[in-house]
Parts: sequence; C-alpha cells; structure tokens
Amino acid sequence: MLIRLILFISLQSFSYVDLHAHLFASEGIYPLMRGNFFSDKIADSWDSLTIQKSNFKTLNESHFKLIVVSLYAHPLLNFDIKKSILRQIALAEEFVKRYPNWIIAKNSLEARDALTNGKRVLVLSLEGASEILETKEDIELFINKKNIRIVTLAHLIEDDLSGTSFFHFPINLINPWDYFKAHFLNSKENGILQHPIGLKNKGKKLITTLLSEGVWLDFTHLSDKGIDEIIPLWKNYKIPLLFTHTLFRRYYPAERAISKKHLEALRDTKGIIGIMPIEWELDFGIPMLKTDRCKGAFSVLVEQINHLFKYLKPEQVFWGSDINGLVPMMSGKCLSNEFQEGFFNIKHLIKLENEVSKKIKYNIFQSPNLNNFLDTWDQAEKKRKVIF
Ligand SMILES: [Zn+2]
Repeated sequence: MLIRLILFISLQSFSYVDLHAHLFASEGIYPLMRGNFFSDKIADSWDSLTIQKSNFKTLNESHFKLIVVSLYAHPLLNFDIKKSILRQIALAEEFVKRYPNWIIAKNSLEARDALTNGKRVLVLSLEGASEILETKEDIELFINKKNIRIVTLAHLIEDDLSGTSFFHFPINLINPWDYFKAHFLNSKENGILQHPIGLKNKGKKLITTLLSEGVWLDFTHLSDKGIDEIIPLWKNYKIPLLFTHTLFRRYYPAERAISKKHLEALRDTKGIIGIMPIEWELDFGIPMLKTDRCKGAFSVLVEQINHLFKYLKPEQVFWGSDINGLVPMMSGKCLSNEFQEGFFNIKHLIKLENEVSKKIKYNIFQSPNLNNFLDTWDQAEKKRKVIF
C-alpha cells in the first residue's frame, strides 16, 4: 500500500507510457526500414518512412518511463520470422545490459519495483501471432522464457487466427483479396467497410492458451466482428480491453479505428488505449473540424483526445506511437517556430505532449496514467481459464 502511495505521488505527471513502439523494426522489416538500433543513423524529418526514428541514444534521452516494445517480423522479408523476433529480443536484452537504468519487466510487480527504484521499463509485445505462436514449444520459448507479455493477435492480413480490420483506400490494397471480397459481399456497417471474418477456431484456441499464461491480449487490427466476439468474454472474466495503437473512428472513418461501441466496452472493462500521433491518418479528420484547419493533424489529435474523454478517464489514454511502423509522425505545420521541424523522433514526443496538453480540457498528461497502466496490467495478467 505504502509503495503504491509513493508511486502515485512520484509518477503522476506526464504521460510516461508508450503502448506501441517498434524499436527494432530495422531488424524485422529490413530493408524497408533502414538503420540499426545501435547505430547513429536516424531519420531527420517527420515524414521519413524508411529510416528508423529512434535508436539506443534517443530512447534513453526520451521522457518515457515505460515502453511497450512491439516486435514484428515481415514474412516476405525474413527467411525465418521466429528467428527475427528472437534477434529483436536479443537487441532489447543488449540494450538493458548497456543501460542498466532500464529493465525488461516480465510482470507488473517487477515493473513497479524498477520504477520505484528510479529505473525505466521495457515490456515486450508481439504484433501478429500467426506462424509465431504455433506450438507448445513456441509458447514456452516466447512467452515464458523470453517474456513476451502482450500479444497483438491480428495484423495486416487475414491469417489462420482471424480477420483483420480495413484501413482506407489505397492502403487496403496491401490486402487486395480481402478488400475485393468485402466489396463484393457489401460487408459494411454505418458506411464503414468491414472484414467479414471474425475469430477463427485456431485464434480462439490461442487466446485461451495465452490467457492461461497471463498474457495480455491487444485487439488493435482485429476486425470488428472479432472484437464483438471478444467483448462478452472480457466483461465476464473482468479482463481490461487493450487497444495499443489506434484512432477514434469519428475522426478516421475506417474499421482500423476504434468504434464508439468498442470504446464503451473498453470503458466498461476499465481498459486502456494508445493514441497514434500519425499525420496521415489524423488528416482524415480535418473535414470534421470547423476551425484551426491550418494546423491540420495537430488539431485533429487534440479534438480526438477531447472527444475520448467523453468515454474514458484521462488515465486510460496513452501514446501508442507506432514509431518505425512505416508511418510518418507529425509535422509542426502552423505551430510556433520551434516546432517547424515537426515531431518524429521518440524524444520529440514530450514536446508534442506539452503542446497538446495546452489545448485539451482535462490534463491528461498530469494524470496518474503510469500507475493506471500498472494497475490495469495487474488485473490483465491474472491467469485465467476462459471458455469460448
Ligand atoms: Zn500495428
């Protein structure tokens, strides 16, 4: 209790958590992402897509106290995706060896302890479980031995586990067969194109296994149909819903962004959400704004956060930067001169955060959100026998 109280007092300023950062993308999607985590090669503009936007130095110079590291290996760019994930974990292990002020936490208690002692925390997560978590041995290796504690089940393309959410055109052409099938079936709700497939049997089986191991599941990228199948169970078993990197559908009209219905479910399960500071997607919200058009994506980001607070408490909202996810970050268009270069490096997010916090109704960034992350993780990591 005393530890909790001390943490609450000492950690209640600024949003110290990034729920989704691809720190080692130059390993998982090389040559699409160039650079090397331990090299100095780093992007120098906000719209750079293919050069890493964070490295060992900027990570350590950033303000973040806890980062959920998203591990991803592209199947066409890697001979063996499991080995690529292991190489990325080895980079994380090498980082904490070189910087003993960081640890890789395997549970919320370890994270809490480290933070209380002034250390900083990496939490390992996997994006896209298909063909990686296939066998008992894989679970033993990746979950129990290598400490992947968060799994984003679905990713960009329908797989043997589930359907996946659609983006906007032309991004949907990364998934052409599903895209044309959905058009053909006229699979839509409120004008939003929806993937016709939810969870598959293999996906449900994997979810059951992961819950029995105390892994926290992230439903970013899952089709609406799949999320609808999850919600009653999550409510029943009191598991906090997690969306690590998303936008609000009101401002990004595509299945990829969280719907009002799912946001309400997230609220009911006391879950948490990560918001993406990504100019491309935020720009879709500009037509909905009546003022401040010049500032574009920045205004949409502010509006979106304000709107989220109609559903969620400030401590349920975090960054989900998706840094190095082959996406641009934010320009500083029409903001004051000091921001003209934009926000693109992981260590710039503190500046963006300061600018955003001046404009929002509640002070999200002075809320106890790091504590709330740990409390929510406490609840999520309970081992459960869930029956579909
Ligand atoms: Zn993603």
